[in-house]
Amino acid sequence: TNTIFIERLRKSFSAGTAAEPHYIIKDVDLVVKGGEFFILLGPSGCGKSTLLSMIAGFVGKTEGRLSVDGEEIRKPGRDRAMVFQQADASLFPWLTVRENVEFGLRMKHIPRKERRESSDRFIRLVGLEGHEDKFPDALSGGMKQRVQLARVLANDPAILLMDEPFGALDAMTRRTMQNELIRIWQETRKTVIFVTHDIQEAILLGQRVGIMSVGPASRITDIYEVPLSY
Ligand code: ADP
Ligand code: ADP
Repeated sequence: TNTIFIERLRKSFSAGTAAEPHYIIKDVDLVVKGGEFFILLGPSGCGKSTLLSMIAGFVGKTEGRLSVDGEEIRKPGRDRAMVFQQADASLFPWLTVRENVEFGLRMKHIPRKERRESSDRFIRLVGLEGHEDKFPDALSGGMKQRVQLARVLANDPAILLMDEPFGALDAMTRRTMQNELIRIWQETRKTVIFVTHDIQEAILLGQRVGIMSVGPASRITDIYEVPLSY
């Protein structure tokens, strides 16, 4: 369940312009099993964000197969949520921490009491107790990233797609957040695909690390099993 299946996936942003299209991503084959913590590692510009955005359903594929539990991915779905590098871009500045975390639940018309229970739980899980009534502007980068994570978790997607979520944080905060994410993953057992260009981060976090080659026409060239450090 919640297994992501990718076969001969290709992406071109200039389809139809040439007999030989320019592929950003060419022939990616990958299976990520439900509950797995998978790392996608590769240099900047190799197509990691594009691949993640295709799994999220934000970006359409050009060729190949891309499915979750046998169901073709055509658009965004509640089973998948993306966490971005820039928390600012995803938080509403006019809403408090709690209101941001509850936003998706409100959209789903979850009753107030349940929303509250859920936001309490996830605010606690990411270590933001005591900050519920603050606005994003009053928070540090690491705290904003926690809010983004709490909001995504409150929506309870089966699959977390994380696009260099700690890339904009200072080294100390990044380390803290990495440990937090490990703890959260251990507690929730979500399927995670975590994109990074940082080898140390990849080795620290992942069970399996897929190496994406430098473009043009990137592929996943190797997959390494990493002995869990936690
Ligand atoms: P990464 O996440 O590994 O840094 P990206 O997926 O962001 O790589 O980008 C891979 C390549 O695809 C880059 O050359 C980028 O310029 C190109 N690209 C990404 N999005 C688009 C788009 N919407 N239109 C055209 N080219 C794009
Ligand atoms: P990076 O910092 O990893 O290069 P970017 O933020 O530049 O990532 O985005 C990389 C690519 O991911 C974009 O070119 C775009 O194709 C895709 N992307 C990012 N955010 C969205 C979004 N909200 N909707 C659709 N595509 C997105």
